[in-house]
Amino acid sequence: LMQLAVPLNFIGFVYREIRQGLTDIEQMFDLLDVNAEVVDKPEAKPLRVSDGAIRFEDVRFSYDEARPILKGISFEVPAGKTVAIVGPSGAGKSTLSRLLYRFYDIQEGRISIDGQDVRDVTQKSLRAAIGMVPQDTVLFNDTIAYNVRYGRVEASEAEIQQAADLAQIGPFIRELPDGFKSMVGERGLKLSGGEKQRVAIARTILKAPPILILDEATSALDTATEQEIQASLDFVSKGRTTLVIAHRLSTVVSADEIIVLKDGVIAERGRHADLLEQKGLYASMWDRQREATQAEEQLKRMREDD
Ligand code: ADP
Ligand code: MG
Repeated sequence: LMQLAVPLNFIGFVYREIRQGLTDIEQMFDLLDVNAEVVDKPEAKPLRVSDGAIRFEDVRFSYDEARPILKGISFEVPAGKTVAIVGPSGAGKSTLSRLLYRFYDIQEGRISIDGQDVRDVTQKSLRAAIGMVPQDTVLFNDTIAYNVRYGRVEASEAEIQQAADLAQIGPFIRELPDGFKSMVGERGLKLSGGEKQRVAIARTILKAPPILILDEATSALDTATEQEIQASLDFVSKGRTTLVIAHRLSTVVSADEIIVLKDGVIAERGRHADLLEQKGLYASMWDRQREATQAEEQLKRMREDD
């Protein structure tokens, strides 16, 4: 019975937290993704963000000792710049974002924001400074307005509408019978992956954090939807320090630096043109994806001709 009581209590706790209107979706992830190992130091201070520069120094990490995931990763995202992480599935890309968020503590090295080690600041202040647009957005069983407002609970109706417009989802919402009051989630309207992602982007626009993590996951979307989402992601990342995990290489062309992660190490790094010139892993990923895009376009033309 004890074994059952704990999870039920926990679910109740999470539910109450949500009803009380936590300010961040990320805090909910934090609650669900409990990791007892990560605790605030007694002397932890709030993170003071001056311009939001991120630094990974020789970071080593494994979920379990037997299998190292990151084997010495160093890079910087200067204030307001965008660094893209690419690489094969399982390379450790999402792990990097979880470590910046301090879902886990690293075994060696240092991760800092504006010179402050993420282990020395309060988790609350760290997570308040970072906006995350995850790969799979989970919406609450509530109205669209509620789901967007979650980014900043004190936001006005007008601000919610504006954020939705900037995320390219406003017109779609207004056309629904109940508009922004439409219920979504399991017991409401089923939104597509792209629509859910744009709700998450609207939420992040409202939150307006100095640091952004985008885990793109646009590979399942058609080209038109992807372009719309790209436009809203470009908007939200403008002027913010952004770490983007890019699945479509078309989105990394303009990144200030591209990091190619493979088997836990940085295999290649540089700007798009430099990496193409190297004719290595990035160049071959680029070629493969271009072929796939061309095939997709050809297929579309054939359908249109029918
Ligand atoms: P990517 O985002 O590049 O596809 P991830 O960072 O999600 O890769 O995962 C890197 C590796 O770590 C994978 O082999 C994955 O199976 C493993 N992994 C991810 N999360 C966990 C976890 N919570 N526990 C154990 N292993 C994990
Ligand atoms: Mg991933």
